[in-house]
Amino acid sequence: MKENNSASQKMVKEQLIARNIKSQTVLEAMLNVPRYLFVPENMQESAFSDSALPIGLGQTISQPYIVAFMTEQLEPVPGMKILEIGTGSGYQAAILAYLGCKVYTIELLEELNIRAKKAINSLEFDNVRIKHGDGYLGWPQEAPFDAIIVTAAPDKIPEKLVEQLKDGGKMIIPVGEAGSIQSLKLITKKDDVIRENDLLQVRFVPMVESDI
Ligand code: SAH
Repeated sequence: MKENNSASQKMVKEQLIARNIKSQTVLEAMLNVPRYLFVPENMQESAFSDSALPIGLGQTISQPYIVAFMTEQLEPVPGMKILEIGTGSGYQAAILAYLGCKVYTIELLEELNIRAKKAINSLEFDNVRIKHGDGYLGWPQEAPFDAIIVTAAPDKIPEKLVEQLKDGGKMIIPVGEAGSIQSLKLITKKDDVIRENDLLQVRFVPMVESDI
């Protein structure tokens, strides 16, 4: 599954290294996981461009820099148990899987869930579980998690997700109103003390409230 082609090399150099992504393992994952597999056919020529891209149903695959930045913040190591909310295309989950993490990812929209499953299965990862469901509930049967990555923006930090974070764990999450600038926050939990750090201003699709 090596996709060491010039488009991904250029993406890594110009979009990631140039903007100070330093983790060698994250850079390697971004170089080798074939991003084009997670981008719709009619968007292939933009697969490695410096932007988010539409993946249908009003949703997007995040900009490569944001994927790399959020991944780096989690300091992923092999075996780490990570919950992702908002599978979308499956690209972020594939990056974490490439890094050897045990990935649990939840997507609200069934059609995207099915597509993401196909893309991830085509890379033959055996360390990703993908579920169709509501991310506000988390994945209690598999909790606690070493880290949680939320890739859709809620208005406020969902309490159930904080509960499902291990002591010493961290969560990265964009928080704010839909359609406006949101704050990408790093939340840490240690001895029941929750700390919040604002990292970047971002714009994610909303995390939708649902009763599925
Ligand atoms: N991580 C994705 C990008 C996600 S876009 C990638 O790598 O491509 C945000 C996704 O969150 C969308 O697919 C959207 O359907 C999903 N989403 C929104 N609200 C949700 C919720 N309550 N639970 C689970 N997924 C949700």
